[in-house]
Amino acid sequence: MKLHDLNFKPFISSEEIETTVQRMVDEIANDLQDEIPVFIGVLNGSFMFVSDFVKKYPKPCEVTFIKLASYEGVKSTEDIQRLIGLTQDLTGRTVVILEDIIDSGNTLGEINRIFKNENVKALKIATLFYKPEAYKKDFKLHYVGMRIPNKFIVGYGLDYDGLGRDLPEIYQLETKQHMTNLVLFGPPGAGKGTQANFLKEQYNLIHISTGDVFRYNIKNETALGMLAKSYMDKGQLVPDQVTIDMLNAEVEKNADANGFIFDGFPRTNAQAQALDTLMQGKDSSINAMIALEVDDEVLVQRLLERGKTSGRVDDADESVIRHRITEYYNKTAILKDYYSVQNKYFGVDGVGSIKEITVRLSEAIDSL
Ligand code: AMP
Repeated sequence: MKLHDLNFKPFISSEEIETTVQRMVDEIANDLQDEIPVFIGVLNGSFMFVSDFVKKYPKPCEVTFIKLASYEGVKSTEDIQRLIGLTQDLTGRTVVILEDIIDSGNTLGEINRIFKNENVKALKIATLFYKPEAYKKDFKLHYVGMRIPNKFIVGYGLDYDGLGRDLPEIYQLETKQHMTNLVLFGPPGAGKGTQANFLKEQYNLIHISTGDVFRYNIKNETALGMLAKSYMDKGQLVPDQVTIDMLNAEVEKNADANGFIFDGFPRTNAQAQALDTLMQGKDSSINAMIALEVDDEVLVQRLLERGKTSGRVDDADESVIRHRITEYYNKTAILKDYYSVQNKYFGVDGVGSIKEITVRLSEAIDSL
């Protein structure tokens, strides 16, 4: 969805908002018992929240609004304008401020300063959304609906330069990260690891080899390693959920990366879908699957040769090697279709010198 010059994507549904508002109502009504509170909405952003909140509030209450301006465009500004609208005597009353969102806390600072002189019995702060990473003040927030990351949002009363307040759900600013994400594909022994080591330097990408991560865990005798070992030693695939969780964690460790080379992942349809979801969460996507194509018999010879020095149990035995290749054709090779239908599959001849193959891969990547 476009508002002015910026793109926004759905973030919080109206159902989720409703559940949150109801939870806040229940909590506040329970705390205030039979006291008649004065709910004060902070305009403009809070009008929808206050309206939904007081409709759900089960007991008598008063409702009023104040106005302070704090947003200009997408940046929370330091200078806060004067308060408008507080005409009522609040002496001895329990006041609950209803805020749509608290980020830097500047508006809240101003509210606290103003209410110091009002002789209220109690001043409580309730906010539907709260950005803990942006909050710079020490004022207590008595009721918090949802904690959200420090991203610019619109909808449900919140605007971007005047637009978006009318939307019944929340949208988040889409920040395209321009990452390059490659899936390096091919059967065991095709040379993915060797080539990834060159490509990661050339394109400044993070190389994640799921096989390497599993082997690292086995070496360090972690619980994940012990679990993976039982499958790997037989040349079988590690279960999807275990592999997907591990991959997600590896990607999250490199949140600022330019992009990734995925080597040995995805190996099943479920993994390919999980990878798409993960990339969408980063406002990004997989750019291409680059596949090294090599004949089976060449693979078996390469892996037996590697087994003489690699120390890998799964390279030592010809029947395990053949089982890994069978696993590839049964479960993994179908991913060629998954990426082909999206026009993202690029096959590269994987037979030749290491250098020749690097050049072929670079040509494919540069053509993207
Ligand atoms: P590799 O180093 O890529 O040849 O992987 C070695 C072994 O690790 C495989 O035979 C599997 O047992 C396991 N493995 C690596 N990546 C995956 C994955 N994406 N899904 C399931 N198992 C995997």
